[in-house]
Amino acid sequence: MTFHALGLIDPLLRTLDTLGYKQPTPVQKQAIPAVLAGRDVMAAAQTGTGKTAGFALPILQRLTLDGVTAPQAVRALVLVPTRELAEQVFESFRSYGGNLPLRSAVAYGGVDIAPQIAKLRKGLDVLVATPGRLIDLHDQGVISFALLQTLVLDEADRMLDLGFERDLDILLEALPKQRQTLLFSATFSDEVRKLTKGMLIDPVSIQV
Ligand code: AMP
Repeated sequence: MTFHALGLIDPLLRTLDTLGYKQPTPVQKQAIPAVLAGRDVMAAAQTGTGKTAGFALPILQRLTLDGVTAPQAVRALVLVPTRELAEQVFESFRSYGGNLPLRSAVAYGGVDIAPQIAKLRKGLDVLVATPGRLIDLHDQGVISFALLQTLVLDEADRMLDLGFERDLDILLEALPKQRQTLLFSATFSDEVRKLTKGMLIDPVSIQV
């Protein structure tokens, strides 16, 4: 099985070649075609399985083939529990999207909000964010979810462990109901299932 066979476009295949990725990991084999097809996904996958590329590659492809952003708008939103993971996931999007004309940014708390607002002004294709800072940005009226196509919740179990449940509820209220939702979690406890109830529509279920 090759990345080509999964339906990825040339600019992404060239990037993967440069990075030395020879073949997709099991989670990528399942997630990439599902995300490209616009399906919701619920994946039980730990760090180290290649889950980040599993959602980043097909999201970048869909953003490239379908539409453009607008001032203040965000077309794909990736929510993560910590600033370390935010930086890591943002770096992955930057690296995989190196050959594509897309704008991405990262936003988390504990640092100056002004540069994050400046990046949002022109609009973004991808924003990787922690929930608290995203709510601050939304409260300040500097972000629009009107063009949001895809939402990713990465490490959903850790989000709950860190007490982000209420923040997630607030954010989900603000997002368009019609969107693609991808949920990644190392474990699927009753709490995670409760959080995600009603969030996913006919999801493709992935176990690795
Ligand atoms: P992740 O599980 O997303 O944190 O990824 C774990 C590591 O695997 C990262 O350092 C990726 O760069 C690397 N990686 C992801 N997919 C592949 C692949 N198909 N082939 C080789 N390395 C990969």
